[in-house]
Amino acid sequence: MSKKVLIANRGEISLRAIRACKELGLKTVCIYSEGDKELKSLRFSDESVCVGPADPTKSYLDAPTILSAADVTGSDAIYPGYGFLAEDHSFAEQCNLSGFKFIGPSSETIRQMGDKITAKSIVTKYGIDGVPGFDNELPDNEQEILKIADEIGYPLIVKATAGGGGRGMKIVRSSKELINSVQIAKQEALNGFGNDIVYFEKFIENPRHIEIQVVGDGKGNAIHLGTRDCSIQRRHQKLIEEAPARDVNKKKLDEVLKNCVNLCKDLNYEGVGTLEFLYEKECFYFLEMNTRIQVEHPVTEMVTGFDLVKAQLRIALGLPMTLNQSDINFRGHAIECRINAEDSVNFIPNPGKITRMHIPGGFGIRYDSHIYNGYEVPPYYDSMLAKIISLAGSRKSAIKRMLSALDEFFIEGIQTTHQFHQKMLKDEKFIKNQHTINYLENEFLKNA
Ligand code: ADP
Repeated sequence: MSKKVLIANRGEISLRAIRACKELGLKTVCIYSEGDKELKSLRFSDESVCVGPADPTKSYLDAPTILSAADVTGSDAIYPGYGFLAEDHSFAEQCNLSGFKFIGPSSETIRQMGDKITAKSIVTKYGIDGVPGFDNELPDNEQEILKIADEIGYPLIVKATAGGGGRGMKIVRSSKELINSVQIAKQEALNGFGNDIVYFEKFIENPRHIEIQVVGDGKGNAIHLGTRDCSIQRRHQKLIEEAPARDVNKKKLDEVLKNCVNLCKDLNYEGVGTLEFLYEKECFYFLEMNTRIQVEHPVTEMVTGFDLVKAQLRIALGLPMTLNQSDINFRGHAIECRINAEDSVNFIPNPGKITRMHIPGGFGIRYDSHIYNGYEVPPYYDSMLAKIISLAGSRKSAIKRMLSALDEFFIEGIQTTHQFHQKMLKDEKFIKNQHTINYLENEFLKNA
């Protein structure tokens, strides 16, 4: 009898998971909220279960209800996707204790890596350098805090150990702002993540964001699938991602790749994961590890031909799967543009009804999305509508192919980030790959 997977998510990643399940002959159950009755994924899954009202805290984040849905549908495993409960170690544990295989690493690995201070201390043992800073819980005494900051030097960044999604960070440029910023960061961390522990990192002024994709089988075998560059960001949120990262010191990169794989082997890492780094002056500084599939996974799939979602399912469900680094070959360059329901100038969210649209296609173009003509984009969730991915022989060709795809693409009825991408892909600094994580906000938007 074929196994059944409950997909504990919504939007494009649910559709992505359904497609992978179908290829593997697995049955699917989609959950949805009352605000999501029109989701495309519900038409393609074998079954669907409403798990509560539109408010995500009462539906997609409601672990007991999701577990009941898995129970009543006779599901074998739970696919978390990204966001929502994907990195919630106690949810992973509850799934496994309730007899549903959580598709991802062990709850202990999620817990350790989800705490940034702990994650930094683990990776350091494998020769992976974190951003220099104070990687412990800060003392209460203000004089001591000021002393620690002086030793690191300004500017520095106050970060929440439980932080995520680009939230819970404060840049501090001088000692005058320090104590106040620490207090605000602690309060925000407590409100946002239920944990007020913050730590200090040196603020790296002009880095690129480079990340490494890894896959482990949970039995001590692990491989890497190379790099992605996600330096086009606004408010720490990625808008364009590419694979592989270009213009990187090869010797340093090979070293980091080797260390990341060794770490995953040693941890018996199960499933897919991403180690995120800042890269400046030919040095890699570890930021965090995400123990789940990432939004930008398609660019890696396009340059390697390796299906990351199918790998997640195969590994979790014990289907045949061998991980050999020598089987992974990299070909060409891939770029992903995130089309969000936000206007292209101020990035203000703009949910509403899509009255007319056309999706791009053609050689080397991939389109991952849950939206359709007549779909009403609900205001309750992440604003991402679609991911357009181009693959070509070189970065320059991938940019041209993407521009051609963006010319074909249109959405009417709501504002989207479509035009932003059209402008960015024609930008000289972007084309020359000279941008850093600050470029979009500090230069590109100011000159627009
Ligand atoms: P999150 O888990 O919220 O995504 P990260 O630690 O991954 O947080 O950081 C997200 C983004 O914040 C990075 O891509 C970068 O833009 C910025 N950032 C984080 N730490 C630093 C730092 N020490 N120096 C400069 N920028 C940073």
